[in-house]
Parts: sequence; structure tokens; C-alpha cells
Amino acid sequence: MERVRFCKHCRHLLKEGFLYCPYCGQEWKDDSTMEEIVDKGFEPLEHREINSTLNTLEQLSNKLDIIDSELELFLSHSV
Ligand SMILES: [Zn+2]
Repeated sequence: MERVRFCKHCRHLLKEGFLYCPYCGQEWKDDSTMEEIVDKGFEPLEHREINSTLNTLEQLSNKLDIIDSELELFLSHSV
């Protein structure tokens, strides 16, 4: 089985033996561990999760606004 690795800079798949990345031209340096690359690879996913959490919070806040105005309406009718 052929060993593969990923470019540190553009994260393209590189075949073993490449000294330079053919995609971004950066020199391959063997000083990054697989763990490091995987960590970096998950970064965008975390951002997406944060964004969806923010969206959910915004939706909840909108619902609270609606409830708030409905409550106000209710109270003004009951007085
Ligand atoms: Zn590259």
C-alpha cells in the first residue's frame, strides 16, 4: 500500500516522495504530525457548528420577541 500525506499549506493529497507540493508549490516539510493536520482540517467544521449555534440562538431570540409582543397584546387586552 502506498503511503500518502497531506500538504501543510493547501491540504492536497501528496504522494510520498514529493519534495514540493504540485498544487501550491510549497516545499514539503516533514515536521507536521498527522494529528496536527487533522486538527486543522476540523477547524472549518467547528466554525460551521458555531455558525449554526448562532443561527439557533437568533431564531430563539426572534421567537422570544414574538412571545413578548403577544404577551404585551394579551396584557393590554386584559386590563
Ligand atoms: Zn500544497
